[in-house]
Amino acid sequence: MKIRSVLSAAVLAVATTFAATQALAQEKFTLKLAETWGPNFPIFGDTTKNFAETVEKMSDGRLVIRIDSANKHKAPLGVFDMVKAGQYDMGHSASYYWKGKVPETLFFTSMPFGMNAMEQYAWFYHGGGMELMQEVYEPHNMLSFPGGNTGVQMGGWFRKEIKSLDDLKGLKMRIPGFAGEVFAEVGVNPTNIAPGELYTALERNTIDAVEWVGPALDLRLGFQQIADYYYTGWHEPATELQFLVNKRVWERLPADLQEIMRVAMRTASYDMLVHSQHANAEAWANIKEEHPNVQIKQFPDDIFKTMYDANKRLLKAAAERNELSARIVESQDTYLRQSRAYTDISERAYLNTMAEVE
Ligand code: CA
Repeated sequence: MKIRSVLSAAVLAVATTFAATQALAQEKFTLKLAETWGPNFPIFGDTTKNFAETVEKMSDGRLVIRIDSANKHKAPLGVFDMVKAGQYDMGHSASYYWKGKVPETLFFTSMPFGMNAMEQYAWFYHGGGMELMQEVYEPHNMLSFPGGNTGVQMGGWFRKEIKSLDDLKGLKMRIPGFAGEVFAEVGVNPTNIAPGELYTALERNTIDAVEWVGPALDLRLGFQQIADYYYTGWHEPATELQFLVNKRVWERLPADLQEIMRVAMRTASYDMLVHSQHANAEAWANIKEEHPNVQIKQFPDDIFKTMYDANKRLLKAAAERNELSARIVESQDTYLRQSRAYTDISERAYLNTMAEVE
């Protein structure tokens, strides 16, 4: 009798667990995502759409992502706060936009004179970057994941040519992140402006120069109509967007849906990198015919050298701020050195060879 009752209790427990698992497997979840971008924003907005589509298909409709663009939530630079507070379950934005709130967030987008996209992805997924990013976001009740890379960004549109450090003094420029701080060291007044307001700001001389992304997105905003000088980049060699997820929301999801989210975020990010390359090359192909006024420029060496030194100085100061910053700066620095040594004999060697034979 005793054995039988133990057995039947065990059977009941298994049946109950099975029923609970089944119920969980049937449960449907809808997550609200706020993105910094306007509706139908190319490339960046495609990334959230791809992610949502993949999640829905892979989960057979058990997980649905509802995307609100900036026109809906009206707070393009408020995504951090909204996801933290649980007003939205998820966000899609860029980590360095939050440096005014949490200084350590700025390290997870792109650093001036830092890693390129390949090197930085390697750092995130194999070099400890993800763990460090999580340490920064955890106290804010969020998880952060890489959310798509632009590749090397262009250095920005200037209405007058920059020939010397003097030309930069007093210049008002839209440039976010650490690069803004580096530019400030050489006399520029940096500011961050939400994407939807950039063209008007440049047109009305609220700013003298603007840095946005690269040909595909910049030409669409029309900067070429009001500025002739398009500089090559140094400031954002691998801009990574981010997915933010409210931690309590994440923890409520069953393990299989969490894994589907992880995979969907990673593939959407990879797709953004290759989409960026494709769209930029396409936009660039006809530039000479369509916008002959546009001149590609590179800052003179002395400007680069001064900014490189300023960047080093600022990084050192950032590392002294607290123990976590010190570990992030050290991790990125060490990883960049090791990874770049290999990039030098692979990608760079190949490009140099091509430059010589062509
Ligand atoms: Ca940018």
